[in-house]
Amino acid sequence: MTLADLTALGSGKVRDLYQVDKRHLLIVASDRISAYDWVLPTEIPDKGRVLTALSTWWFGRIADVVRNHLISVDDPRIPVEVLGRAMLVRRLSMVPVECVARGYLAGSGTKDYQASGEICGIPLPEGLVEGSQLPETIFTPATKAEVGSHDENVDYETVVAQIGAGTALQLSQLTVEIYERGAEIARERGIILADTKFEFGIDDSGRILIGDEVLTPDSSRFWPADQWEPGRSQPSYDKQFVRDWLVKSGWDRASPPPELPDDVVAATRQRYIDAYEQLTGLRFSDWMS
Ligand code: ATP
Ligand code: MG
Repeated sequence: MTLADLTALGSGKVRDLYQVDKRHLLIVASDRISAYDWVLPTEIPDKGRVLTALSTWWFGRIADVVRNHLISVDDPRIPVEVLGRAMLVRRLSMVPVECVARGYLAGSGTKDYQASGEICGIPLPEGLVEGSQLPETIFTPATKAEVGSHDENVDYETVVAQIGAGTALQLSQLTVEIYERGAEIARERGIILADTKFEFGIDDSGRILIGDEVLTPDSSRFWPADQWEPGRSQPSYDKQFVRDWLVKSGWDRASPPPELPDDVVAATRQRYIDAYEQLTGLRFSDWMS
């Protein structure tokens, strides 16, 4: 079995999807990295393996909260060439809502809060700054955008109109519950889970499963707890480092992004590995070796 024997279903910014059979997909995490909704021309070695290892670990940690799509990372149906960065999964009908949970103010949350005092229609207390902890975890959904455009934060009513009140309620509750489980585990390891995004789907029997990737540096903001200091941009294990470099490079975000220099690539690779090792307590060099 090689990748060439499988039908390619398409590629997202980071992952490539293949059909295994009617009910199963292969999700292959590449080493591509995206920032500001652009895929950068430079890859980060081992990033796909780190994301796969970390998602796999987290699926186990949240298994009592929600069913997930992962079947195996070492099934004979997985081509050897992508072993370690591929997941054999149940094919789901994905719910077209990015289910975001936030426990801290950052990113588009800060922007929306500064403009309106709210995020996704949820009013927040006055006086919060970039990095502030929120009074409680909030569900801040966004609509999935086509490649090249921004995901858009929407209010709860918009989600209800799109997927129905019952599913909206279940997804919002699951999102908060999984975030809080993740945040608790991360906190024990000295890491603040500031926010995260989940994608859910529906299986053949109409059940909700969590799909995609979970609680990785690509889908979450992880901050070293001992350096947390509201009022400024927080040091992080995610691609903030790359974003900061891109901003400093003078890139305008409208034209294709520049190549990353070697030291930025190496530092970013190390951040992904550090995030994996610190969260799981495992050595990345042991992953599927
Ligand atoms: P980004 O995450 O940067 O926004 P993207 O969403 O465009 O990128 P990727 O994350 O690279 O895409 O690719 C994963 C794709 O696979 C997403 O479209 C996701 O919804 C889809 N997907 C994930 N799990 C499943 C599943 N079990 N069944 C069907 N589709 C899935
Ligand atoms: Mg995605």
